[in-house]
Amino acid sequence: MTAFRKPPHSIGDSTLLRIGASLVRPDPAGCPLGRALRARALVKAPGRLPAKPVEDFSFKPFFALLDAVEHGGRSLVEAAADPANFRRCTPVHVAWASEAARHYLTARTEQEAARGAANQSPLLPVAPAWVAGSKKLAQPDARGVTQYERTVWGRGYASQDGRVREIWIPSLGTVKRDRPAVEIAAVAHVLLTGAPSLTPFGAPSTPLPGPHVRPERIRVIGVGLADGRTETLADWTAEETEQRYLRAEVAASMADLADATEARPSADCVRCVGLPDCVALPRVPGLLGVAATPRKRRSLSVSDLRAYGTCAEQYHATRVLKLRDGRTESAAIRRGRAVDAWLNERHADPARGSCRAVPLPEHLPGLTADEQYEALAMLHQHRAHCPFDGLADHETVEPLSLIHIV
Ligand code: SF4
Ligand SMILES: [Zn+2]
Repeated sequence: MTAFRKPPHSIGDSTLLRIGASLVRPDPAGCPLGRALRARALVKAPGRLPAKPVEDFSFKPFFALLDAVEHGGRSLVEAAADPANFRRCTPVHVAWASEAARHYLTARTEQEAARGAANQSPLLPVAPAWVAGSKKLAQPDARGVTQYERTVWGRGYASQDGRVREIWIPSLGTVKRDRPAVEIAAVAHVLLTGAPSLTPFGAPSTPLPGPHVRPERIRVIGVGLADGRTETLADWTAEETEQRYLRAEVAASMADLADATEARPSADCVRCVGLPDCVALPRVPGLLGVAATPRKRRSLSVSDLRAYGTCAEQYHATRVLKLRDGRTESAAIRRGRAVDAWLNERHADPARGSCRAVPLPEHLPGLTADEQYEALAMLHQHRAHCPFDGLADHETVEPLSLIHIV
């Protein structure tokens, strides 16, 4: 356990440690320190964020629609006719959210019908979030924390008697099938031990007055919003949930997360409160001709700029909101992915030889016969530009995925 040091340019209370279950998902490309900072949920940058000109949180209107239906007693048609559920959303975002809500609610209805047919008690929407954690300590511990919270993200359901708790975790496209055991165990354990709580923005959670029934059955469901397909990630008794929590070493993962000090520039920098003080992140003043660092940051790649140049609204839909049609993957994306995969494997070779010196494959996996020609032509072109060409022995290779432009 190590004492936490708040970045000098940040403000707010660092005695609350809030770990969402998704934060324990291992991410070798992420920044350990950035995640430790994210877990200090009340530490923030000074000043107010300017109002968003356009909604950039993909799930916002989808959750607004479901809240109106599941907690407000409205039909989806009524909810979708209410502009208040789509504040600052682009037409594409509105259309996506309505379609996603329809898929989701259809899947919920089907599951409830199946439960009824199997003589199982119905599961009803639960509005308060389940939050697990400690009682507030009188003094900060060695980590500088007085209150621990473990949270989950998704939509909660429970049987009338409280013995079954279930959460549905939505994904933008198809259902996410690769959630690691540690994350699923973390989610299930919050459902098992958490109290229904109020979770006001920018403040510690407050448990609602009890008594609360300890559940006997915990269910975790993944759902893909592109088609409403679901996958049962956990359907465990209370005892099994405890065992899985121990076996997956969730507590140790959370402790590692809370105590991390290593800074590694990555996608985490975009929302990192420690960025103004971070020395690990290379800075390139004026690269984009932007005079000052805006308070709201975004990550930007060459492909993003290209997409923006083609169509600003399409850029927003596909690059910011990440709304893609999960049913069809264009040939260009498939081709790019196959070429990327080959190059990544090739460049990971410790010998660091240029692609000029190695034979190229005759076909790439995952592509149809018609798609091979263009993909292989891309590899041929790459040969002329391989960054490993002529690399001297003393040079080191460091993939640089993110820079901060000030
Ligand atoms: S700015 Fe980036 S590298 Fe620095 S601590 Fe934050 S996430 Fe890590
Ligand atoms: Zn190469």
